[in-house]
Amino acid sequence: MPAEITPMMKQYLQMKAEHPDCILMFRLGDFYEMFNEDAKLVSQELDLTLTTRDRNKPPEQRTPMCGVPYHSVEAYLSRLIAKGYKVAICEQMEDPATAKGLVDRDIIRIVTPGTLIESSMLEEGKNNFIAAVCLDGEAAGVCFCDISTGEVSAAAFTGPGWEEHLTNELGRFSPREAVLDAAAWDCQSLRDFLKARLECRCEKGNEADFAPDRAMELCQKQFRSGLDSLPPEGEYAVRACGGMLTYLYDTQKTDLSHLTAFHYTAGGEFMELDLTARRNLELTETLRGKEKKGSLLWVLDKTRTAMGGRLIRSWMERPLLSPAQINKRLDAVEELVGDAIARQELSACLREVTDLERLIGRIVYGTAGARDLTALSSGLGKLPRLRELLSPFSSSLLTVLREAMDDLPALRDSLDRALVEEPPFSVREGGFIRGGWNADVDYLRDIQTNGKGMVAQVEAREKERTGIKSLKVGYNKVFGYYIEVSKSYYDQVPEDYIRKQTLVNCERFITQELKEMEHTILSAQDKLTALEYELFCQLREAAAAQVDAVQRTAAAVAQVDVLLSFAAVAAEGRYCKPEVDLSDRLDIVEGRHPVVEKVLKDALFVPNDVHLDGKDNLVAIITGPNMAGKSTYMRQTALTVLMAQMGSFVPAKSARIGVVDRVFTRIGASDDLSAGQSTFMVEMTEVAELLKNATPKSLLILDEIGRGTSTYDGMAIARAVLEYCADKRRLGCKTLFATHYHELTCLEGEIPGVKNYNVAAKKRKDDVIFLRKIVPGPADQSYGIEVASLAGVPDRVIRRSRDILSELESQGCPAPAPVQAPADDQVSFLDMGANQVAQRLRQTNLDTLTPIEALNLVYELKKLL
Ligand code: ATP
Repeated sequence: MPAEITPMMKQYLQMKAEHPDCILMFRLGDFYEMFNEDAKLVSQELDLTLTTRDRNKPPEQRTPMCGVPYHSVEAYLSRLIAKGYKVAICEQMEDPATAKGLVDRDIIRIVTPGTLIESSMLEEGKNNFIAAVCLDGEAAGVCFCDISTGEVSAAAFTGPGWEEHLTNELGRFSPREAVLDAAAWDCQSLRDFLKARLECRCEKGNEADFAPDRAMELCQKQFRSGLDSLPPEGEYAVRACGGMLTYLYDTQKTDLSHLTAFHYTAGGEFMELDLTARRNLELTETLRGKEKKGSLLWVLDKTRTAMGGRLIRSWMERPLLSPAQINKRLDAVEELVGDAIARQELSACLREVTDLERLIGRIVYGTAGARDLTALSSGLGKLPRLRELLSPFSSSLLTVLREAMDDLPALRDSLDRALVEEPPFSVREGGFIRGGWNADVDYLRDIQTNGKGMVAQVEAREKERTGIKSLKVGYNKVFGYYIEVSKSYYDQVPEDYIRKQTLVNCERFITQELKEMEHTILSAQDKLTALEYELFCQLREAAAAQVDAVQRTAAAVAQVDVLLSFAAVAAEGRYCKPEVDLSDRLDIVEGRHPVVEKVLKDALFVPNDVHLDGKDNLVAIITGPNMAGKSTYMRQTALTVLMAQMGSFVPAKSARIGVVDRVFTRIGASDDLSAGQSTFMVEMTEVAELLKNATPKSLLILDEIGRGTSTYDGMAIARAVLEYCADKRRLGCKTLFATHYHELTCLEGEIPGVKNYNVAAKKRKDDVIFLRKIVPGPADQSYGIEVASLAGVPDRVIRRSRDILSELESQGCPAPAPVQAPADDQVSFLDMGANQVAQRLRQTNLDTLTPIEALNLVYELKKLL
């Protein structure tokens, strides 16, 4: 530590002591500086130079320091936030030039991963959520908020399965940060899930704010709607929200009145999807690359606005359960599909609509600049045209949405008239108020530009008044403006002139008027910037006052954008409108996989049908060669159901879809492997979860259950699971069950509701042709070796596989002993007819062999070769 601490360092240390968990960025002139441990950490994390303030001191007394320029702080901040740090921003609260003594400083905000509002740190088409969780025995409350858009959503889970529902909800929102009450903080499995699966930063909240009364009081103060008529368990959601609000107030230290509505989601409104299903079905990103390209979102997202981009994700993450609501969306999409020209025009119009949701967020929050105000106005300005384009449509949803759009003409008008078209970035340097809007601004600008004219005017007037022909008005830094009179006219100098300076041939005077003029000219710039800023604040407040209308409008625009996107994809991809109802049926005619059909370059996608119901066709066992298309078929079925329940058309000729309450998947390897579990353990954990949570209304996609263990164990487990799914007294839910255990196909006829299907393939010589067609009945062969050959497994191994297979088939016995692999430079045993030689040797008992017999054997073997 330094020997003596300066007052400024004292100020710094005190703030740091109050925020020990944050990196403190301390404003010093044009830089944000960090000191001591923070400086060491940040210089390492961001690759910045570590310096010191006090080079003249001995090294052990120097204060480590590193800094970033204030104008580019966002770039550094976002990197620190991405690495999971919290950063406290300390500003100078007064102008250092005019401050007496130590500059007053204060922490104006704590930037955390879950509370970002800067567009530069956020992804346009993605929400950035913070969560809060409270646990109470067998109950949980959870609340999510995106402060950049003002969205607040909460839910509560009680009774059996509450833990699973909670993690699914957390998985759906995938928050970047979570504030936990003490019980949630102590729940290690919850924290592990948040950290390891969601990469979410956990924060212990202030316990008192999670208490029911205190939380309700906080919520009532904050929200204008959503708190009435909550069900009894809604209390847990309110409690979570209470904890969250305090955290937001403590970190943001600013107006959060754009968080207007508390949305409580009651169970049964949306389809619950667990993280496994969401990831396996590659809804928003691919399993391997974690990229949007190759996911369902990639196919469906043709939204034109940032708001639509965020909403389509949310619709995909939470398909609906009510056929009435689903059909409203489908009817709207149908209308839009039917009018290609209107679609094009709507799309062109939407492209111009700015991100109203985040703009109003920043406006209320107080970080908006003049550019944000013009962007708001320009976005709102597109709405009359949008409404006009929507007016021919009569579906109930499009009508409601059109009516919800308010272009706020009065606000727009004042913004347009007040602000120049392209305002500068900063609001602190003026230059954005349009001429003619405010008389004082015009006057000050006039003074600035016409300062010279004013001087000339005074000069001419004074010449005339005094009759001094050589009178001049001049300016210097010491005296400011002055009137200069040459020696010969001294007697004509009027009484109100005040002498300031005597030179050899002239004298210099000032007058009261001149001083005033000088003050006016010199202070015009400062006044102008201050006035422009004041006017900007008024405009910002006027805009902020419209937060409700702007949010409502933004929500309507986002929905139109998503419906239009669904319609565009449907028209382009020849999708059909599904019939959605509460039946048990799942009838898809000529269904396709929306992603695979898009990425297939050299081949056509072969459509397939699905027919499942709650009775005779409950479980479909799907067999067929590897690579035949079993997984594709099962995934396309799940995706079709999800798409229909999102309100989208589906890739099929026709479809009737009885609403399912959940889709469960057990497919392939899981990303949980990195969490230290074996493949088989992960597989069984997923099977356990889905069997526990599925209901007769669920859809199960099971791909090769049991393959991760020995054949008999695996087959036994597979069969038992299948029986459980098919048994109406147990689960009895629609199941697609792909397996390589052909023995299971005998269950058709044995268990009611089980049907065999296979993906057709043909053998041509040693080759296999995939027909990609799902047909009734079990598969005849596996073609595993042919597929291995297609995949490029070396010929030698393929030939050996065929031999082993034929032996197995002929003997019905376990695999023969392995053949010693020859070294690369030797002639291959296989090439020499290794089988016969090996067989002959194996049959020979060496212990009873006489020398002569041995010699004969060698001859025989040689002959064989
Ligand atoms: P495995 O048993 O080895 O997991 P699988 O039977 O599940 O194989 P898929 O992974 O579904 O096979 O399909 C393999 C490839 O076949 C896909 O990547 C796709 O390119 C192609 N394919 C699948 N179904 C079709 C189809 N209906 N039309 C055209 N191509 C298809």
